[in-house]
Amino acid sequence: MIAENIQKIKNTLPEGVTLVAVSKTKPNEMIQEGYDAGHLDYGENKVQDLVAKYEALPKDIRWHFIGHLQTNKVKYMAPFVHLLHGIDSMKLLKTVNKEAIKNKRTIDCLLQVKIAEEESKFGLSKKNVLEMIDNEEFKALENIRIRGLMGMSTNTEDEVQVKLEFSSLKTFFDELKSSVFTDASFDTLSMGMSNDYPLAVECGSTMVRVGSSIFGARNYS
Ligand SMILES: *Cc1c(COP(=O)(O)O)cnc(C)c1O
Repeated sequence: MIAENIQKIKNTLPEGVTLVAVSKTKPNEMIQEGYDAGHLDYGENKVQDLVAKYEALPKDIRWHFIGHLQTNKVKYMAPFVHLLHGIDSMKLLKTVNKEAIKNKRTIDCLLQVKIAEEESKFGLSKKNVLEMIDNEEFKALENIRIRGLMGMSTNTEDEVQVKLEFSSLKTFFDELKSSVFTDASFDTLSMGMSNDYPLAVECGSTMVRVGSSIFGARNYS
């Protein structure tokens, strides 16, 4: 079932758009099923779960951390995490850099930008991003690589609003790419979830994070 669901979604995605299968709260067997069918990208939002799944599952799985990240937990995933989607402060970036140095690696990061109206969503404002990157402290971080931006739209049926939010993030991504992050490695725009990924792709997403459409509804207890 999982493998079929992943394939169905992949078939709808244009070339160059990566599917992150969001496996949070779901058992290892489901991930293994996707892996056996050749899918390597999985997303988790709790550090403890991420580490447990990393330890139990094949080592070539690419683990994406998509949750809100606390500085004191970075060390647990620094040895292996593939991409950190939720960078929302300079303090966090400095910690990631420090842990990357300890592990003799470079850690790929996305800056999370707040595009939704909801108060509950984390992320930097565009102004925060511009201030953060125009800073000597930021430029001195050599073991992190900013691969792009991540954003979450407002949870609403209003497609016009969601489209505006995604488009504004795409515009900001393009502005940064032509001014500050001119390297080819700035190539990732992570936006779109189960209920809005087709719209996100229309608006220029290069990475969608899809959970319930693959694994079924989540049961938080
Ligand atoms: C849970 C989660 C997703 C996946 O949500 P679905 O609606 O199940 O597709 C995507 N991104 C983030 C940041 C999440 O926390």
